[in-house]
Amino acid sequence: PSAMREVKLEIPKVNWEDVGGQREVKNQLMEAVIWPQKHQDAFKQIGIRPPTGVLMFGPPGCSKTLMARAVASEARLNFLAVKGPELFSKWVGESEKAVKSLFAKARANAPAIIFFDEIDSLAAIRGKESDGVSVSDRVMSELLVELDGLHARVDVTVIAATNRPDKIDGALLRPGRFDRLLYVGPPNEPDREEIFRIHLRKIPCCSDVNIYELAHLSEGCTGADISLICKEAAVAALEESLDASEVKMQHLKTAIEQVKPTETQLYQE
Ligand code: ATP
Repeated sequence: PSAMREVKLEIPKVNWEDVGGQREVKNQLMEAVIWPQKHQDAFKQIGIRPPTGVLMFGPPGCSKTLMARAVASEARLNFLAVKGPELFSKWVGESEKAVKSLFAKARANAPAIIFFDEIDSLAAIRGKESDGVSVSDRVMSELLVELDGLHARVDVTVIAATNRPDKIDGALLRPGRFDRLLYVGPPNEPDREEIFRIHLRKIPCCSDVNIYELAHLSEGCTGADISLICKEAAVAALEESLDASEVKMQHLKTAIEQVKPTETQLYQE
């Protein structure tokens, strides 16, 4: 039995323009991932080693996954995504093998990005077993070995994401491992305006739709909330009339009232 479903290999199709706001994080990702791959010689010449891993942290629904995909897409890198909990298998040895084969697959398909979502889950289960070394301890040591093995190469970059930076094992944050930390926070009003524009691009809107007002009314909403608001508004327009050819401001306003904003307080810097 395999510890993990086969990890899909793809080059995502997400443009930077599909991500509203987050200018600084976009720049940092470019610098950490795209530059070193594009300008290997320049980096060598000047004698600096690019980061092996980038850790994005922040509340859910604020575009961590979206940006990891966008960076792979922009640079035309192969993308391998895995969620932390997927790595755990009840079969002894299988979980470590899964980590090993994930990195092997990335090296074989370089240039590539490995994206670890919910990386905190590796530590979360740690120490729960009383009989010696737990599965998560073994997965963690394998992961550290693989990360350290990437030292010598710039064509495989690891991006990890978490909502719980407080749960990250300190060993992962040492130099040469996840040594670039990026905070991905909730959108402010101008960011929300951009995000509304992005999500309404494909939805025909009535001329009464005022994006500035939507951005103002959606205080506290994440990008994921806004995506949902736009979908709900379109559904509401259809429910009103199956002939509906556009979404009106009132549909969007009602959707904003109905969608409960994702909790982001805990993570404010
Ligand atoms: P989680 O921690 O839950 O994995 P995340 O930070 O990775 O969350 P994403 O999965 O990237 O969040 O976002 C979910 C969806 O929300 C995206 O696919 C996109 O539709 C929308 N979204 C979030 N942030 C933005 C943004 N800044 N611009 C445009 N769309 C966004």
